[in-house]
Amino acid sequence: MNIVQLRKLIYDEVIKCNRCGFCLPNCPVYSVNKVESSSPRGRNAITRAIIEGRLDWSPEIEKSIFSCLGCGACTAACFPALKTKEVVFNDRECLVSQGLYPKIADRVARSLDERHNITDEDNEERGEWRELLKGVPEHAFEKERAEVVYFVGCVASFFPMAQKIPVNMARIMDRSGMDFTILAGEEWCCGYPLIGAGMKEKVKALMEHNVEKVKATGAKRLVFTCPSCYHTWKTFYRPEEELLSSSELLARLIKENQVRLKEIRATVTYHDPCDLGRVSGVFEPPREVLKAIPGLRLVELPNNRQLATCCGGGGNLEMVDPELSGRVADMKIEEILKTGADVVVSSCQQCLRTIATRARRRNINLAVKDLTDLVAEAMA
Ligand code: SF4
Ligand code: SF4
Repeated sequence: MNIVQLRKLIYDEVIKCNRCGFCLPNCPVYSVNKVESSSPRGRNAITRAIIEGRLDWSPEIEKSIFSCLGCGACTAACFPALKTKEVVFNDRECLVSQGLYPKIADRVARSLDERHNITDEDNEERGEWRELLKGVPEHAFEKERAEVVYFVGCVASFFPMAQKIPVNMARIMDRSGMDFTILAGEEWCCGYPLIGAGMKEKVKALMEHNVEKVKATGAKRLVFTCPSCYHTWKTFYRPEEELLSSSELLARLIKENQVRLKEIRATVTYHDPCDLGRVSGVFEPPREVLKAIPGLRLVELPNNRQLATCCGGGGNLEMVDPELSGRVADMKIEEILKTGADVVVSSCQQCLRTIATRARRRNINLAVKDLTDLVAEAMA
């Protein structure tokens, strides 16, 4: 799509805004900084003014457009269901075409181009989390052919805090007798960080590579512990294979009695990751998993499902404005603490990292777990 077509697409969306402001309390960024230009209504008004020639792109506008978490909470409160997230991501493409974007995004783009992951580590180290597993079979979950491909994602592959997620997932799938493989060094970033940065045209090579590698395994199904990889495959790759988030797979395995669970005595609350819940519509499977663990009590957060508050880790905000991202995480942590739960559970490595890191930094005693942690713990 060229810039003229893109502007038309954006304009058709922003003219739906009647400026009612119903979206404002739902926007985590506006809730913490109270700046109209960083609200959904403000971003839409700015965008419309630019397209109508009443305003020019500028560094201030760049700041407003790149401070959106892409969480989609505004759309849930908007009567015309205006897709501000899409407007913002398309705006970012326009800004990138004019060279107006946070230059830190170039570092990520270069890393994805040269190393095929967001961390700039050697991509061959993508499967290193397997060193944390006991009793790894000889094939080390790296088979030429398999029924299922487990697409691990960059964060869980490389960030030590999140590596327990693939460790848990591999244990659970192995125990349930599933024929699965990982792509290890042949898995490349799904491309979502580039989509969020307004650099969509750079995603093609990553997509083509990943699709080719999955096809070569003959797999009929892909499983994701990362909601953003899951969303990206569902929305942009659209392959023939069945796509399942870890929570959907776990709920299925439990229902089919392929995973048996023993008691865990705890009160937990569940944080809906934006890309899994609001964006992909997966709300009930993680709750079904939690309710299937004997002894576990689930208390809901005041803002749950469609109205869940982002953890602060979305839309590349952590990269461009870590302070603002941290303040959103503070708001999330306050909401979690009010539930009185012993543990907050999510189903996303980025939510886990964002909430746990912020809580640790502020000396808040908060247990943050992934859904796979609880299932692996409860597995008899
Ligand atoms: S997507 Fe989230 S952060 Fe962005 S404007 Fe909407 S509610 Fe605010
Ligand atoms: S709720 Fe929708 S229509 Fe109302 S101000 Fe927000 S974006 Fe505009």
